[in-house]
Amino acid sequence: MSATDISHDPANDFFGALKARAPEIERRYRELTPASAALHDAAKGCLPGGYSRDAVIRTPYAPYIEKGEGAVLADADGRRIVDFNFNATSLALGHADPRVVGAVNAQLGRGSAFYAPTRNVIELAGVICERLASAERVRFTNSGSEAVMMGLRLARGHTGRNLIVKFEGSYHGTYDDVQWSVSPPKAAVAAANEPKPIADSGGLVGAKGRVLVLRFNDADALGRAAEQYGDDIAAVIMEPLTNRLGLISPKPDFLAAAREVCDRTGAVLIFDEVIAFRVGYNGAQGALGVTPDITTLGKCIGGGFPVGGVAGRAEVLEVSAPGASDRVSHAGTFNANPVTMAAGKATLEALTPEVFEPLNATGERVRAGLRETCEGLPLRIAGTGSLFKINALEREIADHRDTLEVDKAWQELASLALLTEGYFLSKTLLGCVSTATTDEQIEGFLEAFADLVRR
Ligand code: PMP
Repeated sequence: MSATDISHDPANDFFGALKARAPEIERRYRELTPASAALHDAAKGCLPGGYSRDAVIRTPYAPYIEKGEGAVLADADGRRIVDFNFNATSLALGHADPRVVGAVNAQLGRGSAFYAPTRNVIELAGVICERLASAERVRFTNSGSEAVMMGLRLARGHTGRNLIVKFEGSYHGTYDDVQWSVSPPKAAVAAANEPKPIADSGGLVGAKGRVLVLRFNDADALGRAAEQYGDDIAAVIMEPLTNRLGLISPKPDFLAAAREVCDRTGAVLIFDEVIAFRVGYNGAQGALGVTPDITTLGKCIGGGFPVGGVAGRAEVLEVSAPGASDRVSHAGTFNANPVTMAAGKATLEALTPEVFEPLNATGERVRAGLRETCEGLPLRIAGTGSLFKINALEREIADHRDTLEVDKAWQELASLALLTEGYFLSKTLLGCVSTATTDEQIEGFLEAFADLVRR
């Protein structure tokens, strides 16, 4: 290539260098994981494409896990893998923490599910109400998606309105009314200033009159929507830390606008903290200075068991109380399951302010180490608390349109390469540390990452 060739793009050279090694990386993965390959083949006979959970799909196939202890996984081939994913950030204490195992075993010995409440539900709800400024009442669900579904239904019941405002690029789980414009492709968004809801899945019926999609971090667009649709908006749902948008935090003016618009129109402001709650003792909202009306929760509040939670102002949640007029119903055979509640309580009680401090300092150490390695490279490190993300993009991300430029193929390949070296991150290079993560594991990971990108 000549020095005057304007098509020369150093970022593409960088990403292309790893992509050129794709066959070698995949060959090595296959060599290391024959048992996982065989299990994947068996799974294809009974699960669609071999999977029952989208997030774990990988090319060429996912590793099958036999065991997790602390921050270390053992796969079906007996390989030892250091976990920097912890089931999509849900295990803040690592795997099989003795305090959680003890609480779960104690409950299992007394029975795992009853057609009646247990004291465990009051105990976990109490811990959440104590920590979250927005929480006066809580209802538990079995997943973050269900928490979002119930949060929106409560908001609609409370306001008597239909329209939900969500932001382009935000993921809030699998409920139909939020699976719009989660990852719309460039062709679908490029021309529009005002995003149109783009279905993120087959099988969705329609967004008309139900969902309004706006650009993230665009306070003006939010203000305009309030002018135009104010009387129809039941809720504005947003993430205080946005996983799919490169793990960025909302800009302060945008956050303030969201609160102001909801106050002015009577809409319910929902913070989706399914992931974000684990960044601090008072959740992400504790550090943002804006308090929502409802917080949706999941992941770490269940201590590794299936869970979700809707926490919020009594005035809103009491529409689901017995005897409320136009009552919002919320049934569920396993809601507030006693084993889940016990695991969640053991986990949150272990996460004291004194524990958060070193945990988040460890997160910062990982981010700082990655930043040092990425200096001069077209990679950016994002995150806060115990969470981090490696974004394959030269500049900062502010909204979904920026994420369209992220080299996702590079991220997925880098994730596979790290897996062959014994380090587990998501395909999108989202990672986290737990209280079980050791200095040695961090050093090993930082070295493996440096080897990968500096080679
Ligand atoms: N909201 C957010 C912000 C999430 O990250 C997720 C899951 N990653 C969900 C909702 C859905 O939670 P679940 O997978 O437990 O249904």
